[in-house]
Amino acid sequence: MTPEKPVRVRFAPSPTGYLHVGGARTAIFNDLFAHNQGGVLVLRIEDTDLERSTRESEESLIKELEWLGIEWDEGPDVGGEFGPYRQSERSTLYRKTADEFVEKGLAYPCFCDDATLQAKREQAVKESRPPGYDGTCRNLSAEKIAANREKKIPEVIRFRVPEETIRFTDVVRGEIELKTKMVGDFVIVRSNGQPTYNFAVTLDDHGMEITHVLRGEEHLSNTLRQILVYRAIGGDVPRFAHLPLILAEDRSKLSKRHGGSSVGELREMGFLPDAVVNYLVLLGWSHPEGKEILGREELVQSFSVDRINKSAAVYDKKKLRWMNGQYIRVADPDALFAEADRYLPEEVQKHYDEPTRRQIWGVLQDSVETLANLATAASIFRSLPELNAEAREFVTTDESQTVLAEFEKVLQSEKDPLTADGFKARLKDVGKVTGIKGKQLFFPVRGALTGSVHGPDLAGVAAIKGRTKVLELIARARTLGPES
Ligand code: GLU
Repeated sequence: MTPEKPVRVRFAPSPTGYLHVGGARTAIFNDLFAHNQGGVLVLRIEDTDLERSTRESEESLIKELEWLGIEWDEGPDVGGEFGPYRQSERSTLYRKTADEFVEKGLAYPCFCDDATLQAKREQAVKESRPPGYDGTCRNLSAEKIAANREKKIPEVIRFRVPEETIRFTDVVRGEIELKTKMVGDFVIVRSNGQPTYNFAVTLDDHGMEITHVLRGEEHLSNTLRQILVYRAIGGDVPRFAHLPLILAEDRSKLSKRHGGSSVGELREMGFLPDAVVNYLVLLGWSHPEGKEILGREELVQSFSVDRINKSAAVYDKKKLRWMNGQYIRVADPDALFAEADRYLPEEVQKHYDEPTRRQIWGVLQDSVETLANLATAASIFRSLPELNAEAREFVTTDESQTVLAEFEKVLQSEKDPLTADGFKARLKDVGKVTGIKGKQLFFPVRGALTGSVHGPDLAGVAAIKGRTKVLELIARARTLGPES
């Protein structure tokens, strides 16, 4: 799409909870599109639901968006010439427009009570009719309206919906045709004076000169009401791009109960923001050359709305973990140390000083998929790591005990601090002396030192533990020998 006007997009979360990965993906798509087009990203807080919206939620949304590296140009925290950017601070605009609509006959006050409306809806559904408003208050006389107000009957304002078919082209979903009969006269101002979502969002997108609306597919049907409001205010309808749904692995709608579905949770689980962004972008978009690991710069360069697909995407946590592992592997170890250090087991934190913990992190960096995995991975650095069944079985064979006895002898005969290279050379010597090679040589030592026969670079681990500790652990493993 080649817009004539400078691109202005928005991310418009409702501050009623945490930032869900679906919302995060919408924010990321808008951010990448804005930056790719040299446009502007607006952050607008949609807090018209007074009961459910909270400032804490707004603050946490902003924190999570910042953590992901989303860069907005205008918003409640940074200002901008189209503010205010919280809907709760824009009520005068909504009220004024609603009054104008009523004056022009585009909308009208409605005094129907909820119970009656509900009963009528149920009846309509039973009779297979569209459940939209039946028009009871559509043509009330001025006297009737005044009398109802006199009686203090709660009133809402309804948009007068003409019967017709609305057509628009969605960038993702193509030609869309929606019949207004399906929605009926909808409410634009509630009885508490608050605007409804469809009304406020349209006035704001128009007022903030939004050119493209990229948002979740669940809002596709709302577009009909929004286009009607655009028409009533004489505004240009923006281009719409509805992003495909994100499903859980069981193909149900992804929700809280699936775990790892909020950005805060992912952060706590030790995912890196760049990996999360990279993974979420691929839920509904693909790189022209099919590349999968894409840093921010590359994403900004290559992102285009034309490559957003229609079909639902599956949130595959295994793939997310794999991708995160790729990012951890290539990360600057020093830059990530403070974050990684939080996840080391308490015993390891207490026992080793910071420079040594940095070395521990360096040895483990290649072997974890999330930083939280360090809690288990670093348990090999506990003072006396417990041997698992496989290690125990290996360590207790005659051959293994021979290796351990010989290694102990070699290490005892030396005084210098144990280095990784020294460790490798001594183990090689043991191999020569005993004639034992490969797995049979390495596994008993690894089992004795770490409690497992699999794991990260053993020489690095041994150098961190030091000669005294290594000897202590070998001695312990020898007591498990065949004679015991
Ligand atoms: N506040 C709406 C939401 O959080 C925004 C929808 C839209 O982007 O229009 O779902």
